[in-house]
Amino acid sequence: MPDWLSLYYREPLELTHGEGRHVWDSSGRRYLDFFGGILTTMTAHALPEVTKAVAEQAARILHTSTLYLDRHMVELAERIAALSGIPDARVFFTTSGTEATDAALLLATAHRRSNQILAMRNSYHGRSFSAIGVTGNSAWSPTSLSPLQTLYVHGAVRTRGPYAALSDAEFTAACVADLEDVLGQAHGNVAALIAEPVQGVGGFTSPPDGLYAAFREVLARRGILWISDEVQTGWGRTGDHFWGWQAHAASGPPDLLTFAKGIGNGMSIGGVVARAEVMNSLGANSISTFGGSPVTMAAGLANLTHLLEHDLQGNARRVGGLLVERLRAVAAGLPLVREVRGRGLMIGLELAGPDGSPWPEAAALTLEHAREGGLLIGKGGREAGTLRIAPPLSLTVAEAEEGAAVLETALHRTHTALAGEERA
Ligand code: PMP
Repeated sequence: MPDWLSLYYREPLELTHGEGRHVWDSSGRRYLDFFGGILTTMTAHALPEVTKAVAEQAARILHTSTLYLDRHMVELAERIAALSGIPDARVFFTTSGTEATDAALLLATAHRRSNQILAMRNSYHGRSFSAIGVTGNSAWSPTSLSPLQTLYVHGAVRTRGPYAALSDAEFTAACVADLEDVLGQAHGNVAALIAEPVQGVGGFTSPPDGLYAAFREVLARRGILWISDEVQTGWGRTGDHFWGWQAHAASGPPDLLTFAKGIGNGMSIGGVVARAEVMNSLGANSISTFGGSPVTMAAGLANLTHLLEHDLQGNARRVGGLLVERLRAVAAGLPLVREVRGRGLMIGLELAGPDGSPWPEAAALTLEHAREGGLLIGKGGREAGTLRIAPPLSLTVAEAEEGAAVLETALHRTHTALAGEERA
């Protein structure tokens, strides 16, 4: 890691164990975890079914190979294919979201015989050379060199500039016009559009519902594929939908879908789902030694089963809805919070200084204050000025209220601490 890169807090936090929606540090202090969902604990810490599945598989055989049959892998692939909504779907497992992006880009560029990709401004898709090449958020894209020719389009961020005043319909029309304009600049064939239905690292910003349906019409006329990056939005996190793309459902499912993070509930799983026709575009071997290892597949299957049987998507909708309402009430009395936005248990609080510009110092300080109050949250967005909340999907109403109260105090402390700067 580069020298300048630091851990999340002023004093590093060492997590030693977890249970449900709580984690403990090495000094024995307990925290309510409002960020574990992004750090891959999707359902709950120490979920007994997942722990048992991992232990049982580890006791049977620990190996990684794509050469032999593994029942958990087949069953998980079949369930994901069915859930994906993609007709005639094929699934390929990787170990991370980055590799899932890579695989999707490989498939799309091979299928379309083009290295031209459309991506969204402010996007994040991973840290490999190709994933960086479609990441519009420069703080997460350490090089401008890329194997891809990427064209960035508008659509996900509208809190600033000329787009802020537009209605949903006007904004959608403006973005479609922008897309058509950008396509007019392309060199012939374009392979695909890759987009996060709700931008994760970008600060939980989302386009109006239906935007990707409108994009799809333009893309479909030219045979351009749509890759939905569901690494953060998949598995019911957004509450109303199982996948983020479903908020745009008029256009039907995407051609490819990527997933990772939460499906393993802490184990490293990623993957890509694609129509068979697209998956079959690969004319040479492209397997992964580690992707789809039996122990991660067993964990993923146990986790997915738990998630569906306990309707955690419904829980995300109900508890997330209450939490957003509560946080909006908190924000009403705090000019420092410019916007509270959210879908299910994916909630962002954009902090801004008096001139409306991002306020990363306020976000960093609020993270420290929340930690002192026993709450872990995240940050992201432009200049890391947005607080991000993505708890495990099993969050209870009482825990949501407890966390909101801690965050309220943390924000007030930040407001008081930075009041001088705000006046300046
Ligand atoms: N896509 C999105 C939308 C992500 O949020 C992330 C991770 N933050 C990735 C891809 C990359 O996943 P990983 O960190 O597992 O490589």
